[in-house]
Amino acid sequence: MPQRILVIGGGFAGLWAAAGAARALDAADVPPEQVEIALVNPDPFHAIRVRCYEAALDPARVPLDAVLGPIGVRRIEGMASAIDTGRRAVTLRDRTVLAYDRLILAAGSQLWRPPVPGLAEHGFDVDTLVGAARLAAHMDALGEPGEGAWSAIVIGGGLVGIEIACELRERLGAARARAGLPDNAAAIRVLLLDHAAEPGAGMGAAALPAIRAAFAATGVTARGGARVAAVDEAGVMLEGGERIAARTVIAATGMRASPLAALLPESLARDRLGRLKVDGFLQVAALPGVFAAGDIACAAADDLGHETVMSCQHARPMGRIAGHNAACDLLGRAGDRVRFAAPDYVTILDLGSWGAVHTGGWDRAALVASGAEAKAVKQRINAQRIYPPPGGDRAAILEAAAPVIQAAPATRGTR
Ligand SMILES: Cc1cc2nc3c(=O)[nH]c(=O)nc-3n(C[C@H](O)[C@H](O)[C@H](O)COP(=O)(O)OP(=O)(O)OC[C@H]3O[C@@H](n4cnc5c(N)ncnc54)[C@H](O)[C@@H]3O)c2cc1C
Repeated sequence: MPQRILVIGGGFAGLWAAAGAARALDAADVPPEQVEIALVNPDPFHAIRVRCYEAALDPARVPLDAVLGPIGVRRIEGMASAIDTGRRAVTLRDRTVLAYDRLILAAGSQLWRPPVPGLAEHGFDVDTLVGAARLAAHMDALGEPGEGAWSAIVIGGGLVGIEIACELRERLGAARARAGLPDNAAAIRVLLLDHAAEPGAGMGAAALPAIRAAFAATGVTARGGARVAAVDEAGVMLEGGERIAARTVIAATGMRASPLAALLPESLARDRLGRLKVDGFLQVAALPGVFAAGDIACAAADDLGHETVMSCQHARPMGRIAGHNAACDLLGRAGDRVRFAAPDYVTILDLGSWGAVHTGGWDRAALVASGAEAKAVKQRINAQRIYPPPGGDRAAILEAAAPVIQAAPATRGTR
């Protein structure tokens, strides 16, 4: 029986962890008969989750086999539901038991829904491709006349809430056209609600003028100091009793670590988002042989006290390095492990047809670009930079899996 490196999750961290491990084994001339890499994911796709706010979802589904096949990683369709770190075994929902020698947890995060009555039943989301497809099907079926028929409310003015809000005016116009109605701006209403005094202010003072301009241009009414008390199929009720009619209500209320993190011993260190704390080599310190990467993990990003953010920006390099380190650890080459660091942090927020805003630094104090210039960078990231090499090119996939931190995106021109 070969030894096994088992990866849970096929998102940005998991896919690149498997590829990072494959690259390290390839470089050490270790044949698959000696070490197998297996990746568990509930469906056969690598989801480009960051694109879930877009109207067209097909480009966001990359077949996992197109990447894993050429590098010899076995794909297992399933959902991990129990982890026995003593026996070194993971149980899937269908009761399959998978033994491991090294485990990489990369099950990501999930939308956190506040306990608002009706939100779970009537609120849509753009957290996953499944959620985004459900929203798209709902919008395709809009057309029944009535109050709030062409109104949409986004609950939560964080990055995801802003990105989807800036798309909705256009998407509701397209839905009206499909229903044979004129694209009448006055009939369409998009409301972004947040507890904070001003939705978007969390992006920092440098980005706020761009966000305000984008809201005006894309028809978003941002309302701060709003607390949703209840949601039903016809709209929301605010605390204080105000009722707002809207056929479409979308929750963008934050992310929490995958529930898989909570299956591990309670004594392990976690942060307020439920993420497992990992050491500089992305290892769960108290659990020999267990690594974690992406949204399920919290690592130091630099020596200044910054920690990784739930982001594709950090999930991909964490995955590559966790995979590399798990393979080195298994091969007894601890000296070849690579320490994770992500000193440069950038934020590029899509602002719909207005453009985007690009800031630099952990405090987002530096405005790098805005409008069309930032949008070009955002589109290059979303449609090219974060995709695995196409065409099943084994050498290119292994090269892209090198355990390095990718340089920050160029502001213009080349990738
Ligand atoms: C609309 C939206 C826009 C975003 N925009 C940006 C952005 O602009 N920039 C940025 O950096 N980040 C952005 N993010 C955040 C980014 O998508 C996440 O941080 C990133 O996807 C994390 O990668 P991951 O691999 O850790 O988790 P995920 O991408 O969530 O992948 C986890 C994988 O694990 C699988 N899985 C879950 N549980 C199990 C289980 N029990 N067993 C097996 N498999 C399991 C899931 O199905 C999934 O395939 C955005 C997120 C959203 C929703």
